[in-house]
Amino acid sequence: MFYKSTRNSAVNVSSAQAISQGISKDGGLFVPSEIPSLTMDEIAALGNVSYRDRAFFVFSKFLTDFTEAEIRYCVDNAYSDKNFDSDSIAELAHLFDGTYMLELWHGPTCAFKDMALQILPYLLTTSAKKLELGRKIVILVATSGDTGKAALEGFKDVPGTEILVFYPDDGVSAMQKKQMTTQEGANVGVCAIKGNFDDAQNGVKAIFTDAAVAETLDRNGMQFSSANSINWGRLAPQIIYYVSTYAQLLADGGIKAGEKINIVVPTGNFGNILAAYYAKKMGVPVNKLICASNANNVLTDFINTGVYDRNRKFYTTISPSMDILISSNLERLLYHLCGENDATIREWFGKLASEGRYEVSEDVKKVLAEEFYAGCCDDAQTKACIKEIYDKYSYTCDTHTAVAVKVYEDYKAATGDKTKTVIASTASPYKFSGSVLSAIGAETDADEFELVDKLADASKLPVPASLAALKDKDIRFTETIDKADMKGYVFRTLGIKE
Ligand SMILES: *Cc1c(COP(=O)(O)O)cnc(C)c1O
Repeated sequence: MFYKSTRNSAVNVSSAQAISQGISKDGGLFVPSEIPSLTMDEIAALGNVSYRDRAFFVFSKFLTDFTEAEIRYCVDNAYSDKNFDSDSIAELAHLFDGTYMLELWHGPTCAFKDMALQILPYLLTTSAKKLELGRKIVILVATSGDTGKAALEGFKDVPGTEILVFYPDDGVSAMQKKQMTTQEGANVGVCAIKGNFDDAQNGVKAIFTDAAVAETLDRNGMQFSSANSINWGRLAPQIIYYVSTYAQLLADGGIKAGEKINIVVPTGNFGNILAAYYAKKMGVPVNKLICASNANNVLTDFINTGVYDRNRKFYTTISPSMDILISSNLERLLYHLCGENDATIREWFGKLASEGRYEVSEDVKKVLAEEFYAGCCDDAQTKACIKEIYDKYSYTCDTHTAVAVKVYEDYKAATGDKTKTVIASTASPYKFSGSVLSAIGAETDADEFELVDKLADASKLPVPASLAALKDKDIRFTETIDKADMKGYVFRTLGIKE
């Protein structure tokens, strides 16, 4: 198994190289040269073992240049009860008849990003050691709120690394901002930019692919890597929980071996749902992958028409981690769907960069329609959905998860499909207490921590210790910069000259 670039199929690197580099030099994303397959017996056997063992098994298919001991080391350190407040790591809750919530937010920062970002530092430092890089790894992150905090927690004080996070000044929730600006650790930097998430992501991508910047870092004994889902080391850990969920449902008797399930994912950068697609291609029986968007519905339109057009209004919503108009991981999916034709990907993504728009071929449109269903909803519908689930099932979900539930309801109404369904629940409702409380009709005129207490009363869910602890932490990072100054910030913070 090796890794190719979506923009140059001749690239041929090991998983350790793909993970430590983050993105290919040609601007493409690393993809596995083949998708390993699992038999139903293998999947069923995973139902009887721990999440760590499930992770070990799936990783061993993708990280073929890692030794067993190296994979064990990564998995055992990341998925321990020290970091997660649920023994199952990914908790499966039964919402209603044949419909399950896959709660991916039992990690230290209360969002699904922890599932990958608790292990990425181990994968990355192990990769660097294997390759004998001997350089400090500088992680640059663009965040729409959750990745930044999860990456900071994962990388804080990890020897041989430094992490710098950029977030859109007006694009994150009060709790998300507090989580990041109070971050502890001697190797961390957090900076707001005047712009939206796409500006932050484009800025980071431009720095990554700037040869002169890379040379300057090299001279100073450093190299960049990425903790965004453009890094294969983010994607691979996300495949595991879909395999794990199927194995768990099987073990619990919720489904029979071979029975297909639908998977619904609240989507932004297309990383989480792409992981579900890989799980399907590996052999997990999946009927439809349901892609749920908020008012920033560029993916809904794309899946329904085959035209990707980012030339549209950008909305700031109550599900900020999905406020994205350029979904990076779509490039990986399209590479697989177009027959791994790197010239086609260069053409489409060249058009995206120059015109903000591209249209895929008829063949690709056909496969998209077979594999996916896409829908979207606005903030009012999201809130109505939170209230409905709260009233009907006494279940409190966050704003992102509610988008997924609403789109799933629309899907069922449109198709009458009764296939059992797993909905990815991507954040704890406590991260978005104000929006959730206002959705269920509670008074929200209070500070962030009073809101947490109110939500505890209303939801009866335990308050995550990490969020409660923020109240007494000092703000360490207050800088806001123009998006044009991101490169300057990186050099200043690393203490090197351009
Ligand atoms: C990041 C995030 C998403 C979107 O996930 P993608 O992999 O970017 O599609 C959805 N919900 C929450 C809570 C998130 O943090």
